[in-house]
Amino acid sequence: MTKLFPTSTVGSLPKPSWLAKPETLWSPWKLQGEELIEGKQDALRLTLDDQNRAGIDIVSDGEQTRQHFVTTFIEHLSGVDFENRQTVKIRNRYDASVPSVFGAVAREKPVFVEDAKFLRTLTKKPIKWTLPGPMTMIDTLHDGHYKSREKLAWEFAGILNQEARELEAAGVDIIQFDEPAFNVFFDEVNDWGVAALERAVEGLTCETAVHICYGYGIKANIDWKNSLGAEWRQYEEIFPKLQKSSLDLVSLECQNSRVPMDLIELIRGKKVMIGAIDVATSTIETPEAVADTLRKALQFVDADKLYPSTNCGMAPLSRQVARAKLTALGAGAEILRKELSA
Ligand SMILES: [Zn+2]
Repeated sequence: MTKLFPTSTVGSLPKPSWLAKPETLWSPWKLQGEELIEGKQDALRLTLDDQNRAGIDIVSDGEQTRQHFVTTFIEHLSGVDFENRQTVKIRNRYDASVPSVFGAVAREKPVFVEDAKFLRTLTKKPIKWTLPGPMTMIDTLHDGHYKSREKLAWEFAGILNQEARELEAAGVDIIQFDEPAFNVFFDEVNDWGVAALERAVEGLTCETAVHICYGYGIKANIDWKNSLGAEWRQYEEIFPKLQKSSLDLVSLECQNSRVPMDLIELIRGKKVMIGAIDVATSTIETPEAVADTLRKALQFVDADKLYPSTNCGMAPLSRQVARAKLTALGAGAEILRKELSA
């Protein structure tokens, strides 16, 4: 990007109420068959329109075509049973009903490639597409086959690489892997987590990003955050390894978080998506508050590498709130651009 401080969202945005129940994770679709396909495409147009009106520079599909950022991808793979779901504890925090691996996993057909092609026809702006990261995938299902987190993660990394190469060919400019599990399983991240992620981006020429956050604004995550003490130093455990990785961008939670900003110094040289919008509250940030967070981050990120963004996805928020937060993000970045050019 030649524009200073290009804005983007982390990923998900609320869906229209005629497509899925609002303000709910894993909300079931309200349409079926051809109507569902058309409904998802209509929702994608609307979410793109919201982003354009808010002055978002790097646009996305707002995850309008998926029920959930991890399970929808997994449900497209063979070797996974998504009808007989199992309950597992996600990131040592909360129970969820998830698909179960019963045999060798494989991607028999593309998952999001047609959706990405459709979005490409609607905009000339750079497109960012999100995929789940290998470690977060294994943490969001039941494994009755490999019985090894590492082994299954490597299988998923190969599958993600196939999908990523086709997304790149479809015209996606940045492919982002969501790895909230990186904030929990530090030993695994350092042993094989970053290596598996690098396998997922192998051979790509587009830019690649990794998103590491403290989760959606659901109760289990908020309770967990409240247990983390005065300073959240989780990033400190994994940044040195990420700094040496081949990933181009790192996406972080900064707004209203207790992450000491100076930790960002540990990934100096990377482009950093600074979360300047809190997704765990419906209170709308002022553009000045957004600019203030970005200004603080500027001490630790070079200006040409600072990408204003949201803390995480906004799927659980109301559409009205999400739109207002997008607008604040666009306006906050503009304040900082003016300051720097003055
Ligand atoms: Zn997130």
